[in-house]
Amino acid sequence: MGRAAADMLADVDAQFERAAAFSDYPRGLLDQIKACSAVYRIRFPVREDDGGLRVIEAFRAEHSFHRSPTKGGIRFSPEVSENEVAALAALMTYKCAIVEAPFGGAKGGIRLDPRTASEGFRERATRRYVVELNRKNLIGPAVDVPAPDYGTGEREMAWIAGTYAELNPSQLSPYACVTGKPIALHGISGRTEATGRGVATGIAEALDSAADMAAIGLTRGVEGKRVIVQGLGKVGFHAARLLEREGARIVAVAEIDGGVASAGGLDVDALQRHRAETGSILGAPGTETIATAAETLERDCDILVPAALEHQITAENAPRIKARIVAEAANGPVDSEGDAILRERGVFVIPDLFLNAGGVTVSYFEWLKNLQHVSPERLVSRYQETATARVVDALERVTGARLGEDERQRTVRGPEEIDLVEAALADTIIQSYRAVHEIWKSRAMPDLRVAAYSLAIDRVARSHLSLGIFP
Ligand code: NAD
Repeated sequence: MGRAAADMLADVDAQFERAAAFSDYPRGLLDQIKACSAVYRIRFPVREDDGGLRVIEAFRAEHSFHRSPTKGGIRFSPEVSENEVAALAALMTYKCAIVEAPFGGAKGGIRLDPRTASEGFRERATRRYVVELNRKNLIGPAVDVPAPDYGTGEREMAWIAGTYAELNPSQLSPYACVTGKPIALHGISGRTEATGRGVATGIAEALDSAADMAAIGLTRGVEGKRVIVQGLGKVGFHAARLLEREGARIVAVAEIDGGVASAGGLDVDALQRHRAETGSILGAPGTETIATAAETLERDCDILVPAALEHQITAENAPRIKARIVAEAANGPVDSEGDAILRERGVFVIPDLFLNAGGVTVSYFEWLKNLQHVSPERLVSRYQETATARVVDALERVTGARLGEDERQRTVRGPEEIDLVEAALADTIIQSYRAVHEIWKSRAMPDLRVAAYSLAIDRVARSHLSLGIFP
């Protein structure tokens, strides 16, 4: 496990300052952008399965109100602390600015171990947490909108939505109070895999530059690249699966209890099935077992994708990382010292700020769907199908050619929700990478992370200035 969470806030602030040094904004404005506006810390009792009571601690940090509502995940972890949620909330502000999702950053956490707490205990803790936030107006479609993070998923989001809707029966759009909900409870297609899909898309976009790849001794493109993924959770699993589908070889996966490797490439779906059956990825057929997650990260590969938790690459192990690219799927997986060492060694780091923003992007679409009370394809699908059919008919008339029935169906078919979500997600990730890359190159910045922070600072600053806080 990584270093103390207090360091994470120091790390985020240090990265902010590296970028701030490139800006001309007044110090006061930079301080306002950097500061975490509010942190709510609560302790409440939760009934244990045996009838006893346990007092647990929880947090919600709202980093910036330059946009409303604030938005950010809720994590379940025994390590959650005030500093950790403040740091993660800051990352959310910057991330939302980069992908132009109109939110301020937030993050919440309940201090419990998702692996050992029973489902009943998790449900009671989650519902009570919502009651506490609601009491202080710290949750709601216009106020603060949580989402899944480490140790939480659709089920927890459903509990949050249900509890909030019960507490606010006269609201028009109560289900817009949280995203990452199940489809059956006003969720949106593609949210579950959105962060992992965004990671895979972002990596593919970065690898598409022959010049950038040549500079680190790699060829262009994902095809044939050897990848190691740390953490086969919501983010890591989908990222690994999509990279595998694009022709990468997943040569090793690190989990909390050790790693597995296969030089020829792991079958990610089979690995996940093995984990579902046995509780661990270790011992999956046809794989070599590696004793620890830490050792797995240091194996030979082209791309290392840390997708578990913060501070996994530090001054201690950064000198031994063999990957030429570190793609930060998790939040803050590389600490400041580790980052400096990777930079010195010429490792190409694709920063979290940009790379894992696919989740909040699709959460934004879910929030819009909930506010509009209509799925995005409902109003356009049939119209688009008819319009495309007219174009195909006209082309067939003019050319005399005829499409086969299958091809015609595929060509004219109107979009489903998942088609729109995936296209808009890909577009957001690609455009955001290009914007960050352009700043990196045109302003001769040392790395993509400084460029990403610079873009975020600029967008948040302009928003503050237009609000008139700093006349
Ligand atoms: P998750 O709980 O679904 O999965 C995390 C996985 O990491 C689990 O399988 C866990 O066993 C494993 N793990 C924990 N410690 C490990 C270690 N030391 N070595 C190897 N594996 C370890 O969580 P998630 O939602 O996939 O989140 C992972 C990271 O991505 C977090 O940093 C989170 O903040 C970030 N993130 C998540 C989302 C999202 O939409 N879920 C969005 C943006 C960023």
